[in-house]
Amino acid sequence: MSDVDGVAAAPRTSLAELTTLRIGGRPRALLECSTAEGVAESVRALDAADRPVLVLGGGSNLVVAGGDLDLVVVAVRNREVEYLDEADALIVRAGAGLTWDELVADTVGRGYGGLECLSGIPGSVGATPVQNVGAYGVEVAQVLHRVRWYDRATGADEWVTPDALGLAYRTSVLKNSDRAVVLEVEFRLDRAGRSEPIRYAELAGRLGVEPGERTDPALVRHTVLELRRGKGMVLDDDDEDTWSAGSFFTNPVVRDEDLPAVRSRVAGRLGDGPAGQMPAFAATGGTKLSAGWLIERAGFGKGYPSSSSPARLSTKHTLALTNRGEATADDVIALAREVRDGVREAFGVELHPEPVWVGCSI
Ligand SMILES: Cc1cc2nc3c(=O)[nH]c(=O)nc-3n(C[C@H](O)[C@H](O)[C@H](O)COP(=O)(O)OP(=O)(O)OC[C@H]3O[C@@H](n4cnc5c(N)ncnc54)[C@H](O)[C@@H]3O)c2cc1C
Repeated sequence: MSDVDGVAAAPRTSLAELTTLRIGGRPRALLECSTAEGVAESVRALDAADRPVLVLGGGSNLVVAGGDLDLVVVAVRNREVEYLDEADALIVRAGAGLTWDELVADTVGRGYGGLECLSGIPGSVGATPVQNVGAYGVEVAQVLHRVRWYDRATGADEWVTPDALGLAYRTSVLKNSDRAVVLEVEFRLDRAGRSEPIRYAELAGRLGVEPGERTDPALVRHTVLELRRGKGMVLDDDDEDTWSAGSFFTNPVVRDEDLPAVRSRVAGRLGDGPAGQMPAFAATGGTKLSAGWLIERAGFGKGYPSSSSPARLSTKHTLALTNRGEATADDVIALAREVRDGVREAFGVELHPEPVWVGCSI
């Protein structure tokens, strides 16, 4: 395999060293692929040999089991960037292995709008469509132009439009599936230098704009990074609150007919005031609640369970499960189960994990 151009067999590093949660055992092999063709050829050959594969970007959305892992890691590392001036839009095309925030910084630095609200999200460009990353009122679906993928069923290396991806809240046809590997991604930018409309109330407030207004992308980027750092949501080797997989649970969507029962459980536990103030937003399929709010109100406060636990909730944000350096996969999984079960018991709401699980499950 290492004879293929753009593919190098790397030392058998553990996944703990390649993931932001810093847990995970040793794969059979690690292939570092610095070209799109190298990525596609590696996955094609491994699929043909029926070998289990983990396609890896920045490792920021993974919970990986410990021990010896029966899989080969294909690390996507192609990082080229190209700006394409098309008649109706300015497009940026980036290699899937480029660090996402480097791309955001480059576009904003050139004065282009579009990606600024997604500043500071860890991981690679190629993973952004996988779970339709989103933050501060913007999802990647809104700015995605096309994706070049290697289709693992047909063997085609082709460009597809977003409608092929089944993008929805924190998911797509690529998430938890072997459907395809993303090789390159194109995003639409605003060449006039206007940000996406600012929809997120906290961000609009900080920027001093009305919700829905557009403003200077550089200012938005600066403000988003500031907000994210305050919540431990920008990777920082010196801040253990960021040693996580980001938000561990998605915000649950409850059917509208089930909402009164949830409110009454909240009122029974916390009183009518909090029940009335529970964050709730209209969403596809019902009403979206705040996972972080429910976790905290179910008794799992910041830093839970204690300052000596190897796996604990972030001290800045209850939605992030963190490894303080010594945690094993089992420690993280036990805490995740405790939080999920506690919220179900308290309010009758089921939380679903956001990261991808490898060799283990909640
Ligand atoms: C501190 C922190 C904050 C975060 N904040 C946010 C946030 O605000 N919003 C948000 O949406 N997410 C957030 N995340 C989650 C995470 O950063 C994103 O999901 C990110 O897109 C994952 O990218 P990655 O390259 O690290 O993917 P990895 O963790 O390497 O992989 C995740 C999944 O994607 C697959 N994958 C990776 N690359 C490819 C590819 N090229 N082709 C096909 N499949 C691929 C992998 O096989 C795996 O199944 C956060 C995470 C952390 C640690």
